[in-house]
Amino acid sequence: MSDKKTANNTASTKTPLIKTKGLSVHYPLRSNKIFGPPPVVRAVDGIDIEIAAGSFFGLVGESGSGKTTLGRALLQAAPITHGSIEYNDGEVSYNIETLKGADLKDYRKRAQLIFQDPYAALSPRMTVRDIIAEPLEVMGLTKTRAETDARVREIAAKCRLSLEHLRRFPHAFSGGQRQRISIARALVSNPKFIVADESVAALDVSIQADVLNLLKDIQREMGLAFLFVSHDLSVVAHVCDHVAVMYLGRLVESAPTGALFAKPRHPYTRALLSAIPSLDPDDRGKAQKLEGEIPSPTNPPPGCKFNTRCPHAQDKCRVDEPELVVQDGHGVACHFWQELMDK
Ligand code: ADP
Ligand code: MG
Repeated sequence: MSDKKTANNTASTKTPLIKTKGLSVHYPLRSNKIFGPPPVVRAVDGIDIEIAAGSFFGLVGESGSGKTTLGRALLQAAPITHGSIEYNDGEVSYNIETLKGADLKDYRKRAQLIFQDPYAALSPRMTVRDIIAEPLEVMGLTKTRAETDARVREIAAKCRLSLEHLRRFPHAFSGGQRQRISIARALVSNPKFIVADESVAALDVSIQADVLNLLKDIQREMGLAFLFVSHDLSVVAHVCDHVAVMYLGRLVESAPTGALFAKPRHPYTRALLSAIPSLDPDDRGKAQKLEGEIPSPTNPPPGCKFNTRCPHAQDKCRVDEPELVVQDGHGVACHFWQELMDK
């Protein structure tokens, strides 16, 4: 018994790869207003998350909830207005929000982005070899052409691209193959952390599984962590270890994948889940349809951000914003989640 306790303690005290506190990205808007504070878009608004090393961390929510902005902020590719991001991979630790110069350059090797659109992401005038080699050259990671070639071949093989493929131009490839080229380019600097933003959304369903399996294999083999951004919950259920749900710049729920899908605690998560087509006819009647549109992040409602669309909203929800409360490793930001669980 004492062994088990120690193991649990170690797991919970292990330093996460990424840890944010109160992370916010507010974009100022142009306006003619003379009085009062200038209007801002609260794209990301006070987020605390922890991403474990080597994990597959899913981030879901409707379009406009701030997923892309959060992913980019973690790469210092969106302007961080408030809060902190700690990065610790065992070799180095950085505060990302203030990182500059040589340290930022080093972080760029360790944290990479895979774009959504495999058609727009690749330069049409470069061979696949040059596309994959470019980060090595820009970052000065290899000294000779032979060294670069060896690294490109090694990573291309991991991404199931052949030597023949390396000589061609991107237009010769299908969407799935192009996404494998983008993945190879992101991996070539040997990163510890990858933000994959809707990386399979543009692909045919039959190809999606291929690319997902590749990402999973890479995660296991190379031991790196993914922030996997997706609007598609069935994909997330399939590949992620942990899932965080965003709504209007806030985190509303965060839990291990099994717990989140088996017992979702937030009404928003439940509504998202019930939108997945179910094969079970008994389930269909219970679906809570998500009515209306996500409000503007320029003028979010007071209290719980979800209150304008929540079927269970009460007076308190229109005034007090709920904190994310964590119980048994499962976090939820809802005043009434416990009562709702019994319904
Ligand atoms: P998601 O990826 O979940 O669809 P985004 O992070 O793209 O959400 O956007 C969140 C909100 O921030 C949206 O309302 C979007 O219009 C706004 N936004 C994103 N980028 C900018 C920007 N550069 N300037 C102003 N507003 C932005
Ligand atoms: Mg997005």
